[in-house]
Amino acid sequence: MRNRIIVVLAACFLAFAIIGFNPNEASAISVGTVTSSTDLNVREGPSTSFRSIDRLPSGTPVHILETANGWHKIQHSGNVAYVSASYVRTIPIPANGSGNTRAIVNGNVLQTDARVINDRGTTLVPYRAIGDALGINVRWDQANREVHAQDGNKRVMFQIDQKKVFVDGNEIQGAVPADIRQGVTYVPLRFFAQTFGADVYWHQTSRSAYVSRLFVPGSEVLPTPPAPAPIGTEAVVTASSLNVRSAPNASAPRLGGLPNGTIVIVESESNGWAQITFQGQKGYVSSSFLNMGGPASPGLSGKTIVLDAGHGGTDPGAVAGGMNEKDLIFDVAKRAERLLTAAGANVVMTRDRDIFLSLAERVRIAERSNADVFISVHANAFSNPAANGTETFYSTRYSSQSSKKLAEDIHRIMVAKLQTTDRGVKEGNYHVIRETTMPSVLLELGFMTNSSDAQKLRTDAYRQRSAEAIFEGLQQYFK
Ligand SMILES: [Zn+2]
Repeated sequence: MRNRIIVVLAACFLAFAIIGFNPNEASAISVGTVTSSTDLNVREGPSTSFRSIDRLPSGTPVHILETANGWHKIQHSGNVAYVSASYVRTIPIPANGSGNTRAIVNGNVLQTDARVINDRGTTLVPYRAIGDALGINVRWDQANREVHAQDGNKRVMFQIDQKKVFVDGNEIQGAVPADIRQGVTYVPLRFFAQTFGADVYWHQTSRSAYVSRLFVPGSEVLPTPPAPAPIGTEAVVTASSLNVRSAPNASAPRLGGLPNGTIVIVESESNGWAQITFQGQKGYVSSSFLNMGGPASPGLSGKTIVLDAGHGGTDPGAVAGGMNEKDLIFDVAKRAERLLTAAGANVVMTRDRDIFLSLAERVRIAERSNADVFISVHANAFSNPAANGTETFYSTRYSSQSSKKLAEDIHRIMVAKLQTTDRGVKEGNYHVIRETTMPSVLLELGFMTNSSDAQKLRTDAYRQRSAEAIFEGLQQYFK
């Protein structure tokens, strides 16, 4: 869908900045906030007998589609799910008689003297009003025609009529510039709110942009990812290609092959044959070619590795070629997590599901977990489809030499495994690598906007290779 390919920027890790409201988003009847003292179960159906598929911490905004018999039907990670209505405070949507676009911030209609504007799908609001409503310091610089906003360490600067915006000093490209209309200075609402960690929903019927600030400044509330249910034992394929058979013997029909490094879940094992699930059916592999865990890599064993799958939730990252960056890099991070965990490393995922996390939260998670290294995974996008290749960034601010070595160790293997153009290891002034004090790198696997790179990123095999490059690069680094 070409018209949805609206992200064209090289520093794609801030791509959320320019995503406009998606008119296809389901319309909610109301918005609510989780109020339970413990995490609230998200279920597949409207009763406690349905399986819990996720848990939402107190304060999480929810998008309510329907309410019946004490259960809210909600929009959850792009699907429909249910939560008990007893633990959600709903914010009713006041009727919008005027039909004009409006913004609702933490349940209150944004009061402004000037109109809220919808310009080609982007909501623009007077900078002063949104700053005040979200408790963010805003300032107008008349000489340079700039709007400055700051909250804690987070700084944003808009230049009037310029698409480029500066976030913590990094220049990025916005879709719609800040501008002055009839003497009022406007900024793009979604960009502004999300940069400061707020969630934004668009309600089409009432033409309302809902802004909820989940992470209040100074609040230490973090979503706690649910522990995955233990099912079988994870194992790594050590053969160059391992045959999968329909029965536990070498003469049984071959169902297919598993490349080296593939993670399988062993459901049971007997007489040297491990039972796994292969392409949705029962399959058997020789357990001699499986590493069933344990500290296979002494260098990695006991190391704390933070894997940061960029973007997430309302921020899809780059959108191109029918793919969302947030999904494909999450898959790579999960694959790397499995490889590293099997080798005895302690892996911390900044997000273990499809949620929005501010850049500052990602840094905080890394600092709090006393990580040995931090790895942020991204894929690139650019307006020119010819741009292609793999590049790896590090920052010289903290742990400069180690960060550079880590970048080189991973990058070399990544390029070799993906067979992409080598764009090199570079210094980059990106928030997550600049603000983390441990050795840290930001990977740009390839360009989603380039047909050759995209074709690779689309396949499981190449995403597995990307994960292997992270794994082997770390083995090299910790040698
Ligand atoms: Zn990105």
